[in-house]
Amino acid sequence: MTANPKILILGAAESGVGAALLAKSRGIEVFVSDNACIKEKYRNELTDANILFEEGGHHAGLTDEATEIIKSPGIPESAPLVVAARKKGIPVISEIEFAGRFNHAKTICVTGSNGKTTTTTLIWHILKGGGINAALSGNVGNSFARQVTLGSYDCYALELSSFQLDGMFTFRAGIAILLNITPDHLDRYDNDLGKYAASKMRIIQNQTSDDAFIWCMDDPLSAEMVAKQKLNQRIYGISLFQKGHEGAYLEDNNIIFNINGETFSMTIEELALQGKHNIYNSMAAGVAAKLIGLRKDTIRQCLSDFQNIEHRLEHVSNIHGIEFINDSKATNINSAWWALESQNKPVIWIAGGVDKGNDYTKLYDVVKSKVKALVCLGTDNSSLIEAFRGVIPVIVEAGSAAEAVNSAYLLAKKNDVVLLSPACASFDLFENYEDRGKQFKEAVKAL
Ligand code: ADP
Repeated sequence: MTANPKILILGAAESGVGAALLAKSRGIEVFVSDNACIKEKYRNELTDANILFEEGGHHAGLTDEATEIIKSPGIPESAPLVVAARKKGIPVISEIEFAGRFNHAKTICVTGSNGKTTTTTLIWHILKGGGINAALSGNVGNSFARQVTLGSYDCYALELSSFQLDGMFTFRAGIAILLNITPDHLDRYDNDLGKYAASKMRIIQNQTSDDAFIWCMDDPLSAEMVAKQKLNQRIYGISLFQKGHEGAYLEDNNIIFNINGETFSMTIEELALQGKHNIYNSMAAGVAAKLIGLRKDTIRQCLSDFQNIEHRLEHVSNIHGIEFINDSKATNINSAWWALESQNKPVIWIAGGVDKGNDYTKLYDVVKSKVKALVCLGTDNSSLIEAFRGVIPVIVEAGSAAEAVNSAYLLAKKNDVVLLSPACASFDLFENYEDRGKQFKEAVKAL
């Protein structure tokens, strides 16, 4: 970088504005450009901080003066401006990489295809329970850069998406957690699962023997990727099937935490988050918390009193013996698989939306054993219907959350569960997955 770098920030939402505020606070010349309309809240923040910006398009020659570009995670590599910048040799980094340069606090970084927000929030909950001045940051809550600008935290629980990891080069995670790697966002990785997996593995780049890496030994693709790495950091595995290693494992119904010669345990019934996938999330969070130095009692207590976050296997209501669960955040096949797998009652399954090239055959086994009816909630349900014709006895279509809930309610009997776990993105009928989940809950309450 030059002595007076001119940083160009692409995208003016939480990540871009956070980066701009941090740059400004450190006296770095910065310009923000967004090709869409900037939300009022963010426009006001930029104006108040005297940060130069443009919106609704990029002016010609925008990258001429730039010595570095901070790209928001929503902007794909294929965006013309990014392609042009790369051609010119201008470094393109993520806001996390940028903020990392100014951070001195500990970082616990979480990635994976599914479970990131749950695990990061759970870690934050335990840290706070242990009296640590901790921030929840990254892909969840306020951006890392915004938090670093304030600069008053001792530890960060940081959720990292693959898009953020792609723009990280020198950042070093104190504790890195890899929950799983299953197909998602492949449209942004040339439909190449290997490229997506490599992106996830960036979470451990730059780690040294002082750092720790927690990973899920039961996840085949993670195992394959980990086997290829030279690892010199401290390694902790989590597993439901293998035993005796450093990290966490199951013995009957007990989770055994085995960390640096110390062990402690708790039963899976005590966990606040139920479902097998949440055992992994709880194990990862518990190991990280122990590595930070928290007491066993604090960890056990916080793993059992955590309040689940909205739209993730969220219990909505029980109406005449029919349970309604909102898992709107399940936007890919793997997350829907875990949601179905964790049901003990016959399921009326509400699924569908924008299909990102799903391979539904992966759900056949779990669907055959759990699902009695499918309500397709999307504008184009053809691939879903095609995939499950002959697999699920009853398939109906719905054009709104209310219609889906009403149909599901008619199909359900006492002791059934109505599960919204769409395996698809939401933007055909809804603003986002939160909107889908909220409309579902409102429709349930209106029954
Ligand atoms: P992310 O932030 O990675 O998208 P979330 O914590 O928001 O993950 O959970 C998204 C969905 O993934 C949830 O609805 C849940 O059903 C599923 N899920 C949560 N944890 C896991 C896990 N460890 N493995 C597989 N699926 C999971």
